[in-house]
Amino acid sequence: MAEQKVETNDFANIDAHLDYQAVVIGAGVAGIYQIKRLADLGIRATVLDANADLGGTWYNNRYPGARFDSESYTYSYSFSKEVLDEWHWTEKFSPQPETLQYLNFVTDKFALRKYMQFDCRVESMVFNDQSNAWTIGLNDGRQITTRFIITGVGVLSTPTLPQFEGMASFKGTSFHASNWPHEPLDLTGKRVAVIGSGATAIQLIPEVAKVAERLTVFQRRANWAAPLNNGPISEADMAQIRERYDEIFATCARTPGGFEHEPDRRGFYDVTPEERRELWDRLYDGPGFGIWLQNFTEIFFDEKANAEFSDYIAERIRQRVNDPAVAELLIPKDHGFGIQRVPMETGYFETYNRDNVELIDGAASPVTRITPTGIETSEGSFEVDVIVYATGFDAFTGSFDQIDIQGTKGELLREKWAAGPVTYLGTTVHGFPNFLMLVGPQTAASNFPRGAELSVDWVTPFLEHMWARGYQRFDVDKVAEDEWFEHVKGMYEGLLLRNAKSWFTGYNSNIKGHEHGNMRYNIYNGGGPKYARTLNEVADRDYKGFYFK
Ligand code: NAP
Repeated sequence: MAEQKVETNDFANIDAHLDYQAVVIGAGVAGIYQIKRLADLGIRATVLDANADLGGTWYNNRYPGARFDSESYTYSYSFSKEVLDEWHWTEKFSPQPETLQYLNFVTDKFALRKYMQFDCRVESMVFNDQSNAWTIGLNDGRQITTRFIITGVGVLSTPTLPQFEGMASFKGTSFHASNWPHEPLDLTGKRVAVIGSGATAIQLIPEVAKVAERLTVFQRRANWAAPLNNGPISEADMAQIRERYDEIFATCARTPGGFEHEPDRRGFYDVTPEERRELWDRLYDGPGFGIWLQNFTEIFFDEKANAEFSDYIAERIRQRVNDPAVAELLIPKDHGFGIQRVPMETGYFETYNRDNVELIDGAASPVTRITPTGIETSEGSFEVDVIVYATGFDAFTGSFDQIDIQGTKGELLREKWAAGPVTYLGTTVHGFPNFLMLVGPQTAASNFPRGAELSVDWVTPFLEHMWARGYQRFDVDKVAEDEWFEHVKGMYEGLLLRNAKSWFTGYNSNIKGHEHGNMRYNIYNGGGPKYARTLNEVADRDYKGFYFK
């Protein structure tokens, strides 16, 4: 049958009987860019978001100290020269309010708000095999029909709480860090407890310590962390950054993590211990993830190299913490540096030198229950006014699991993913036609906007390909999906991170089935450039692995 070509400006007439041609779920970094691309094509599309406004992660996470660990200018959208020219980042690592302002600026600049619907939580998505369309059920009772669903639901957007006895009985204020109250919360004179010591806790602890009367940190396991080395960006700096934007994005595109940080290509063992130390001293004092990503690559797969580097970082921590016993508690003994996502810190270790801060070692004295007035551990009790649960997220699959996503033959996505995500290219899933994911599980872990733009820049031409040919449905080949899954799994082999208690491996002690040892292959470890090449090759080969109708 001859292919029917449709001109771009005819796209809007397709599927007139459906409410939308495409529905984007999530008005965060990925969703904003996706709706921009669809709007430019004249597609009838909308964005649905459960929040009261746009911004996703940057709308939710308002805890004090929340900011990028990515250099601000590498976190920019790269798609618009005008935005790059007009926006001024004021800090090397932008704080949350400025980032939220940036996302609003981009949305308003391109008049995208009119495509967005807020306060609507998606409860179900059901694919109809006859009509090749999805019906989306919302919490307000509405049913929306669409040909395509594109999810931009984020990677770390479903907070998880511990299951301590008595949590509901607490009479003070308590919340997950990700739900930090929107109205100002004055902690002056308050006794505050923070449970957790991940990237979130490590950002908020120094800030809370500055105002609280007393801060007690309940640490179950220590986490490696290194200085962020933030600083202001002046007008002159920003002018230079603007001139360098092409170069910045080109570098991000060729580095595994999508940053300007490039690994040190010298072999770990080809240089002397003094030369290694010289590099590490420089990186420790340098900005952001350099300490992690500009390092020798051996630290990711060679136990001995990792141990030597971890010892170096431990030494730096000892130099910063006055009480040697506290320093030892803050130095992880169960894993090496960099095999979990490294939190970046600003004065974190010095915070434990303050008189109003106490560190509770969860290994020796675990939290046993929450009482109406505080926290009990196996060793004692602590009266507090505020409890902050900085206890992490149901990474990657959590936001999908909350929705009844029903593909062909009645299969639910959460059932298919019960033992961990299975995808084709991190973008699509066999048995779930016309369903696309932006930065889905099993995409390359990278500087988020870099990965988000890559996703959108792949999904959009994919849809154009379909619209131009009058296709109504795509299906994912099971064999192609199996091969991708095996490839993703294989990429974990040999990496030290495969044994980590980390969201990279799907570990979350607060969710049944996500305990340590129940390996979930959440990320593609081949790095951004290789991932991008694979996506492009699939596209170039007429979307190998997909069937179109
Ligand atoms: P996380 O890294 O998963 O840390 C959760 C913390 O809570 C861990 O210390 C964990 O202890 C503890 N915890 C969890 N359940 C507990 C329980 N039942 N009892 C006692 N302790 C418990 O979560 P996160 O700090 O929110 O960070 C998650 C990710 O979000 C980061 O890795 C990062 O990718 C992203 N993030 C990014 C930024 C940024 O870019 N600036 C900032 C914040 C977060 P165990 O270690 O023992 O499990």
